[in-house]
Amino acid sequence: MIASVRAEDIARRVVAWQKRHGRHDLPWQNTRDAYRIWLSEVMLQQTQVTTVVPYYHRFLERFPELAAMARAPLDHVLELWSGLGYYSRARNLHLTAQTVIARHGGRFPRDFDAVLALPGIGQSTAAAICVFAHGDRHAILDGNVKRLFARYFGIAGYPGDAKVQSQLWERAERALPTKDVEAYTQGLMDLGATVCVRGKPRCDDCPLNQDCVAHEQGRTAELPSPRPRKAVPQRHTRMLVLLHAGEVLLEKRVASGIWGGLWSLPEIAADADIRELCVRRYGVKAGAHEALPRIAHGFTHFKLDIDPLRIKVEKVMPRAAAPGVMWLPVEDALGAAIPAPVRRILAAL
Ligand code: SF4
Repeated sequence: MIASVRAEDIARRVVAWQKRHGRHDLPWQNTRDAYRIWLSEVMLQQTQVTTVVPYYHRFLERFPELAAMARAPLDHVLELWSGLGYYSRARNLHLTAQTVIARHGGRFPRDFDAVLALPGIGQSTAAAICVFAHGDRHAILDGNVKRLFARYFGIAGYPGDAKVQSQLWERAERALPTKDVEAYTQGLMDLGATVCVRGKPRCDDCPLNQDCVAHEQGRTAELPSPRPRKAVPQRHTRMLVLLHAGEVLLEKRVASGIWGGLWSLPEIAADADIRELCVRRYGVKAGAHEALPRIAHGFTHFKLDIDPLRIKVEKVMPRAAAPGVMWLPVEDALGAAIPAPVRRILAAL
């Protein structure tokens, strides 16, 4: 079969399916506003639609346009993002908003390469933005589409692997139709999210089932190949829950590394002299200690156990506020830009 004929045939089936069975009323659909499309695409990286929807609405309420986000302090963006995870996405959103103001006169760039050059925007996200905002012709390959293509074309190997990824991109480029690119792109996303799902794909409802390799060969459970198993390192830390008059002390984390730029509970070394450290670093006299239950948190590359230590502060020394440190009522701290496990610790107080 001639490749281009097959590509048009795949697209025809995906487009027809999308029109009848796909999603048409997601809050970021039916607009050409690149700002809104960009915001949704960044939020949808590694996150499901149902989780994203309330965040998307809250962001638009606070930042109805890109300039409003660019003007806001990073803390406000992180605060709204709090709970969505992968915080580098929020830092990149803010940086991108400022870059668009500084380099593109406040207008989201029209050109694919200029979009791709923005912070936190990879090939697939740039493609989706240009397709949905302008109807341009670009292939996407997000996580769901990788799974769909790995099964349909029968491509074995872990899709995160560079070699496998380049095979998938090649197929994605070849399958790209010359018309109806928006419905086709949306169709791939919808199929990946609702039909060719991770667990048990609904092949009977799939428009690609007549020539899907995984379906024909009964290999849907083994494709795509899982991430090669590596022992996930286990790390451990201690955090101080310093409480005084109904308020808790939060410390701003450095911009890089895990939870960069978020407010958090102070982390301390295993052998730290807590009383001495509390006086020196936070200007407080520590009273009674109480170990709180351990919290386990999983990152992509390691697992973290946190042992929180609740400390009743007896006295706050009068001195200039330490930079990067603030006291907040526990209720308010729960609404601040804090990491999810820290929220769990505070919520249980
Ligand atoms: S037939 Fe099944 S495995 Fe193949 S693409 Fe469709 S849903 Fe996925």
